Amino acid sequence: MSEVLSGELKKGELLYEGKAKRAYLIVDHPDWLWLEYKDSLTAFNAQKKGEFAGKGAINKQVSSLVFRYLEKHRVSTHWVQDIDEGNLICQRLEMIPLEVVVRNRLAGSTAKKFNRPEGEALERPLVEFYYKDDALQDPFISDEQALMLGTVNKQGQLNRIKLEALKINECLIKFFSESQIELIDFKLEFGWNMGAAAKGMAEDSEALAPLVLGDEISPDSCRLWDQQTGERMDKDRFRRDLGAVEENYREVLKRVQERWEKEL
Ligand code: UDP
Repeated sequence: MSEVLSGELKKGELLYEGKAKRAYLIVDHPDWLWLEYKDSLTAFNAQKKGEFAGKGAINKQVSSLVFRYLEKHRVSTHWVQDIDEGNLICQRLEMIPLEVVVRNRLAGSTAKKFNRPEGEALERPLVEFYYKDDALQDPFISDEQALMLGTVNKQGQLNRIKLEALKINECLIKFFSESQIELIDFKLEFGWNMGAAAKGMAEDSEALAPLVLGDEISPDSCRLWDQQTGERMDKDRFRRDLGAVEENYREVLKRVQERWEKEL
């Protein structure tokens, strides 16, 4: 969604603070939120903590470019407008408590789980659901479990989320590959645009339900490997103590900016 902002936006009260972002209300704009990206880095359900100055700004700028690119390719995202390097305005969504992971190659815990080599290419992308619950450490769940837990009401909505995730995967593969980066896997979070629903769009109609991509898409939420060298350019550098975390995050931003900034 892109809307032209009119007048000054006034940051209201803090609505929510997560591991990587703070969300604030905006005075007189109940349908929008002000997202502030933090410099903190966490892994393993926040058991491992770190930070570096400018990390929030990098993730915000990568996310913003990705959202603008996706919007151009007819994917609905929560992005409304950039404020500055570390802040943006997004739609306020009713979030679906699912982490939707898409994999093009096996890596990380999934490679380990099936005792397969990290980096093994998949014939078709895999889409997986994890239940978003810190206390349970975001467990992998089946479609039936996702319905049992009430994350959505109908199987059709899960099917719709899977199709949207695959479409986003197609877009992101191209977005990153034109910056000489291979997209290994990533995590998405979706929500319903209740503002649009309230304006008369049938919330439970699968054809019309305003499913919107939220959260962020950044080196924190994707595995990104250098196309030439296979070097990790994402949060695995922090998770696995590979060093040069900041340099690699900056390199991702530099490459996607060089390729896409003018065009988007
Ligand atoms: N991911 C994420 N947040 C999470 C879990 C996973 O952003 O809470 C991303 C992660 O960075 C990777 C992809 O989703 O790009 C798949 O992660 P995986 O399930 O392989 O987890 P891991 O191996 O890190 O345990």
